[in-house]
Amino acid sequence: MKIGILGGGQLGRMLIQDALKYDDEWFTLDPSEDAPCSKISDFTQGSFDDYDTVFDFGKGKDVVSIEIEHVNVDALYELRGCGIKVIPSPEIIQTIQQKILQKEFYNKHEIPSPDFQIIQHKSEVNFPLPFVQKMNTGGYDGKGVQVIKGEEDLKHLWDVPSVLENLVDIEKELSIIVAKNESGETKTFPVTEMVADPKLNLLDFNICPAEISEDVQKQIDIIAKKFIDAANSPGFFAIELFLDQNGKVWVNETAPRLHNSGHQTQEGNANSQFEQFYRVLKNLPLADTDSFGFSGMLNLVGEENFHGKVKYEGLEEVLKLPKTYVHLYGKTETKPGRKMGHINVLADSREELLEKLIHIKSLVKVKS
Ligand code: ADP
Repeated sequence: MKIGILGGGQLGRMLIQDALKYDDEWFTLDPSEDAPCSKISDFTQGSFDDYDTVFDFGKGKDVVSIEIEHVNVDALYELRGCGIKVIPSPEIIQTIQQKILQKEFYNKHEIPSPDFQIIQHKSEVNFPLPFVQKMNTGGYDGKGVQVIKGEEDLKHLWDVPSVLENLVDIEKELSIIVAKNESGETKTFPVTEMVADPKLNLLDFNICPAEISEDVQKQIDIIAKKFIDAANSPGFFAIELFLDQNGKVWVNETAPRLHNSGHQTQEGNANSQFEQFYRVLKNLPLADTDSFGFSGMLNLVGEENFHGKVKYEGLEEVLKLPKTYVHLYGKTETKPGRKMGHINVLADSREELLEKLIHIKSLVKVKS
């Protein structure tokens, strides 16, 4: 089968790495000449945001999918009209691309997400402080999101179409990944805890399975089911959640694609998120997702003040550790905060897992 992926980053790379054990032809499109997928797939350099580029790329493929959601959806509608399978549907990609549509989607389908106001201009603000402003489009990895704590911050408001959202008193950030194939079969991965780096606003650690009560698990199962029914599309979705201080779960946002919160499934589960996504693309029976004990992931991100050709400090020490797995993304240049790779760890208890992750974090540095 000819499979085309819009985006040529690490998510696509790890998908193709895994799926090369099957017989398919892989095509990727990315603006960056040395994108992580460029050396392991039939690569086209070009913008996944441009109608003609996406349409030309998709023509002649059996399936077209994404590893980033900021793609030209008009071209995806057109490709689907030409009989090419597009997974997930252009409708759900379009909904998720725009924070305003995404919030309205949760509201309409009674999926709990923080209270909000939609504004086109900052003059329309009429929402209790403190709140979070999220730009309708253009946000990524914490960019396009700001907390407005008090009156004195109102001067920082962006004058762009946005969602203003209630500031949740967060106990934990969690994620559930849910997959659905065209036959209608669905499967989730165990809930994962995401621990963020407060400075970079980037996901730093994952811990799986999450330490949550039965009640919280139940709330999450209901959310996953409602989401996948409402999405009405085969696909692979990572639903990012907040557990608040009162034990209530809220949806933050959803990624309609492979996700950082699923990286530890590579060694931590019976099958990885990449295997599962592959099966979605091919409408194969979905894979078993059971965990092997406790698993975790640490992102390897470029250190502050280091730019240029990457050097990984301490990696040999890490390679000496048991049940520890290094994944690099084939990026030659580092810059502060750039995701360059990750390390997965297995353990017999949550305590052991945390100890290992913290130890590894102290050993490795991404420098130049
Ligand atoms: P991005 O799409 O850039 O990843 P998010 O919407 O996930 O942005 O926001 C980034 C981070 O900001 C979240 O992981 C969370 O820590 C914080 N955040 C976002 N929305 C809220 C909210 N309503 N209440 C409290 N914190 C929030």
